Amino acid sequence: MEQANSTFSGIPGISAKRRQLLHKLGIYSTGDLVGFFPRGYEDWRNSGSADLNSDEPVSFRAYIDSEPVLRHKGKMSILKVTLRDESGTRIFSTWFNQPYFQDRLIKGNAYIFRGKIRRNGISAEIVNPSFESTESDDRVVIKPVYPLTSGLTQGVIRKLVWTALEIELPQINDCLPDWIRSKYKLCSSVYAYEKIHLPKDVEEFEIARRRLAFEELFMIQAGLKLVKSNLALNSNAWSINPPKGAIEGFCRSLPFDLTKSQTEVISEIMKDMSGDIPMSRLVQGDVGSGKTVISAAAIAACMYSGHQSALMAPTSVLANQHYNTFLKFFPDDNEKIALLTGSVTGRKRKDILERLENGSISLLIGTHAVISDNVRFRDLALAVTDEQHRFGVDQRSRLGKGEDKVAHVLVMSATPIPRTLGFVLYGDLDISVVKGLPGGRKPVETYTSTSRDDPRVYALINKHIYEGRQAYIVCPMIEATMESDLLSVKELYEELKGRVFRDVSVGLLHGAMKSTEKDETMRSFMNGDIKILVSTTVIEVGVDNPNATIMLVQNAERFGLAQLHQLRGRIGRGSHRSICILKSDADQQQAKERLKILCRSSDGFVIAEKDLQMRGTGDFFGTRQHGIPDLKIANLYTDTDLLEESRAALNEMFSQDPLLGKIENRSILPHVKQRFGGLIESIGL
Ligand code: ADP
Ligand code: MG
Repeated sequence: MEQANSTFSGIPGISAKRRQLLHKLGIYSTGDLVGFFPRGYEDWRNSGSADLNSDEPVSFRAYIDSEPVLRHKGKMSILKVTLRDESGTRIFSTWFNQPYFQDRLIKGNAYIFRGKIRRNGISAEIVNPSFESTESDDRVVIKPVYPLTSGLTQGVIRKLVWTALEIELPQINDCLPDWIRSKYKLCSSVYAYEKIHLPKDVEEFEIARRRLAFEELFMIQAGLKLVKSNLALNSNAWSINPPKGAIEGFCRSLPFDLTKSQTEVISEIMKDMSGDIPMSRLVQGDVGSGKTVISAAAIAACMYSGHQSALMAPTSVLANQHYNTFLKFFPDDNEKIALLTGSVTGRKRKDILERLENGSISLLIGTHAVISDNVRFRDLALAVTDEQHRFGVDQRSRLGKGEDKVAHVLVMSATPIPRTLGFVLYGDLDISVVKGLPGGRKPVETYTSTSRDDPRVYALINKHIYEGRQAYIVCPMIEATMESDLLSVKELYEELKGRVFRDVSVGLLHGAMKSTEKDETMRSFMNGDIKILVSTTVIEVGVDNPNATIMLVQNAERFGLAQLHQLRGRIGRGSHRSICILKSDADQQQAKERLKILCRSSDGFVIAEKDLQMRGTGDFFGTRQHGIPDLKIANLYTDTDLLEESRAALNEMFSQDPLLGKIENRSILPHVKQRFGGLIESIGL
């Protein structure tokens, strides 16, 4: 929760400086401290002899065997003391720059030490171990380890959290109804919060974590469900019922036959849009499965019923491409279609905005510019977003906002997600799946390579170009602002253009270019003037040049598998055999294994599952981009059982009490609001 003023009621002596550090960790209140979960635990239970063979930090009980000796070397202080554990092993301990320990370590007394031991013949060494006295009975033996920011120590955070627990625990109201807790055997929230911070053993930790993860998954799904049902209850959309035979006519006008799966998805959409409940539908289909034409059919339905549509793409390159595609889809209505990106300015922009408002534009295609505040439609009936994993939830709901009617929303995504996860990420959407690839397309052959293979790879690229085809060479660009990445793509471009492919036209495309330059380069590549496109991942989504048949990915280990699969989907779009080469000089076995998965599979779902297993969900889905709050404790991949259970509980609750009016369920709404604040406000719940 973003708050300008933080309130740490009941916790004395938090200085302004410390307050700021806590804000950095997202902690603004006593309650936030209670909800600040450890990222791990230190086990201080072992109090026998030191395990000299462990690579991990160990805890052991030992006596001080010599008087501590403190020396100074320049600014540095060095404190040395000999320890002896219960088996008699001598351990030489050294502390740097902690002179005050000299008085705390008393010869002949025993302490619990914790640190990494280095074996040295029959004795052992340890540097900067933490330690505590064995005396007190209420010693915490499993210590939570919190995420830190520089300037804060574990000790400080622990004390703050423990104080906060003392204050908060007595007044916590359980946000889960009793019937859910007893049905799913979940502990109380008082127990859960205490034990997640201070478990006595693994079992207590697991009981606490299970409860908190369940709660988290439950609240997220409840939030999405409320968004959806609220949209359905409180808003009206245009009923889209095009003249008889119009959509069939549109489909017949296409240069190909639609697949069975495409036809099915189109009829689902037509059915949704025929009523006045706003459609919220996700069309999911692997790269190249033909989602664009599905959206075109939906747009045709609106156009032929006299209403407006918008199509929003994540990049201007893609918006341009869609614009050209749609001009071809609707050859008789070209003047009703407009393109609005950041580079459309001045009089041209003014003209488009006017024609949108008076209704002479039926379809607006663009980037984020489409949802900027000064864009007003006469009667927006349908909003399509392409590759929605680039858009947040709040943007989606913003697109859907109209004057008195809201638009039907159609979201297209090539990110394959397992069904259960879909409920969490897209709980507010109905899902259609486009199965298979159209038109007997062959999977892209995929190989790995290293720098040593460059000459052979370049020869292969030349061969494709000689045969009239085109090539992509892709460089990783993790962040658009990273100078070094930008440098590397430019260097590679110069090198290839000046040396390796001297006789071929090579183009460069990266995110930091002006959008007019990008569009220009893309046009040259599409019409074949540029043969080799050296590019960052700006081409990742949606770019469709069926004549490109070979792709070389540099530093492939730096990409996620799902991302590589997306990239690879840029080739293999025509009738020619296509080849993707994943180049990596990384030594790690795991990196190699990952790339091999792509060589073996062309099924986005299989790849997504594997990627998920290897990297965890946060990375893969980029949950931040979804606009869905990051999960604090649940793990979308490993907690599938909890996902199913929380979903069952949710369904049961909503089926009996759709408005959450029953007294036992009333505690839920405030909690959902707390977590989903922004999203829920944006739809006025
Ligand atoms: P994606 O689902 O990745 O957005 P596109 O919509 O860009 O895929 O489609 C990929 C290519 O397949 C396009 O060139 C499109 O014209 C073509 N296509 C779509 N449907 C069919 C079909 N039924 N038969 C043949 N080609 C098709
Ligand atoms: Mg697409």
